[in-house]
Amino acid sequence: MVSVSVVRFETADSPTETAIGEGLTRLVRAAGRLRVDTSVGKYAVAHGDGCAVCDTPLAAGDSFYLDSDAGEILCVTHGRERREAD
Ligand SMILES: [Zn+2]
Repeated sequence: MVSVSVVRFETADSPTETAIGEGLTRLVRAAGRLRVDTSVGKYAVAHGDGCAVCDTPLAAGDSFYLDSDAGEILCVTHGRERREAD
């Protein structure tokens, strides 16, 4: 089984949500973070709780990671670490 569980997002649209393409909806839904018809787009990933490891909140323009198996959002530092651990 190919692991695609940790996905990088380049730019957060807002502190709480980032628009995603339809191709990512399945993964984001599996993580329990899919939002539909949001202010940022038709589909979005919810990340208002910030990094699951260090609690750093995201700001608009930040890069971040989603671990879809764990359903967790990660900052750049911890997302990279988790990806390397895979
Ligand atoms: Zn972190």
